[in-house]
Amino acid sequence: MIGSSYDLIVIGSGPSGLMGAIAAARNDLRVLVLERMPKVGLKLLASGGGRCNLCNTLPEEEFIAAFGRQGRFMQPALRAMGSAELRAFFQTLNVPTQEEAHKVFPVSGGAESVLDALLKECRELKVEIRTNCEATAIPKEGGVQTAEARIPSKAVLLASGGKGYATLGGSASGYGLAHRAGHEIVDPVPADVPLLIHERWAKELSGVAVTGANLRIGLKGFPKAGTTGDLLFTHQGLTGPVVLNSSGAVAEKFNTIEAVPIIIDFAPGLNDWRKAGGNKSIANALRPWIPSALTKSLCRLIDIDPNAPVSKLSEKKSVLLTEQINQCRLTATGTEGFKKAMVTRGGIALTGIAPNTLESKLQPGLYFAGEALNLDGPCGGFNLQWAFSSGHLAGQHISEAL
Ligand SMILES: Cc1cc2nc3c(=O)[nH]c(=O)nc-3n(C[C@H](O)[C@H](O)[C@H](O)COP(=O)(O)OP(=O)(O)OC[C@H]3O[C@@H](n4cnc5c(N)ncnc54)[C@H](O)[C@@H]3O)c2cc1C
Repeated sequence: MIGSSYDLIVIGSGPSGLMGAIAAARNDLRVLVLERMPKVGLKLLASGGGRCNLCNTLPEEEFIAAFGRQGRFMQPALRAMGSAELRAFFQTLNVPTQEEAHKVFPVSGGAESVLDALLKECRELKVEIRTNCEATAIPKEGGVQTAEARIPSKAVLLASGGKGYATLGGSASGYGLAHRAGHEIVDPVPADVPLLIHERWAKELSGVAVTGANLRIGLKGFPKAGTTGDLLFTHQGLTGPVVLNSSGAVAEKFNTIEAVPIIIDFAPGLNDWRKAGGNKSIANALRPWIPSALTKSLCRLIDIDPNAPVSKLSEKKSVLLTEQINQCRLTATGTEGFKKAMVTRGGIALTGIAPNTLESKLQPGLYFAGEALNLDGPCGGFNLQWAFSSGHLAGQHISEAL
């Protein structure tokens, strides 16, 4: 490949691709980034509701555990660039960051400052970026095929992201490229996605929010402890961090069953709320723990008048109501799909990739980074951290290899 005009072609201008491009260009490689969308870094711009929760400061072991069984694969990338190094990196690009309960955001409050800084650095390093340019194949002889031409290069970094949010660049295009290069693809399913719920009463609560709820999947093999976080009823079902974080596991179950039972504790640690109730209405007495609209719905399910005074509530009904609050059973019938999936579960199988270099075990010179791989984390900066860390590690190794 001597005489190639580019040392490295990066497929995808997301955080993993731009970080890979920067790491390689800082080592004097000539880098071209291809982006199939008209604009670069669209998902990064939309991340964290526009605030860009760019990493998470949890200790390495906890960070890895949040990605489940596959998480260990990330260790070399996290060691090369963990949250401290990533924050220092952005500091040098004049993007100071701040931490809120392990979640890291740019002080500017805007994802734009993060993308702008990455693009400025790319410009200074003379990284070339071509938009509206889709990679259609990664030939064994090297380089990248696009609709117009084959562009030669010594190495290729596939940083094509996941399938979610097509409007922000999500597509299966990268899986096809990897598959044709011989890589196995683990069936992608939507993750970090709202759930569709069968029970009508739940949909009628659209807009009601509950803080600190606990959610567990009511099937064998899932942890009894569940996960805890905020929850929001929607007109189709449920969303909010606690739901999004469980949604990938629920979505996987839809490959084999049509409905997944979920059990919600709307008020973990609820104590004897009746004591202080007296003449207060049931809905009022429970207000410190759950919104009254929710109490009213739960009461109706078991034929209790939520406006009746607590003192009139029988022991039997009180036990039933507490059960409804602490172990409410709902039925997930689907997810809002890839259209609303912030992350994809599944993707390019890790077995074909060396974790220390992120190079393909099947096609030398082909590297991988980011969400395109079979790794997905919960909300909270985990996925962007993996994108940045893996892009950095791949860029470093490509520089060493060439
Ligand atoms: C609304 C939303 C909010 C989010 N918020 C957060 C958050 O706050 N914190 C967090 O950690 N994560 C968040 N995420 C997830 C996070 O944005 C992604 O995990 C991350 O962007 C993945 O980075 P990536 O570089 O791997 O892929 P992407 O950012 O998806 O970039 C891949 C790029 O490759 C391009 N591409 C694909 N195929 C080709 C091809 N064949 N040729 C050329 N170009 C191609 C795509 O168009 C895309 O621009 C959010 C996601 C969404 C959708």
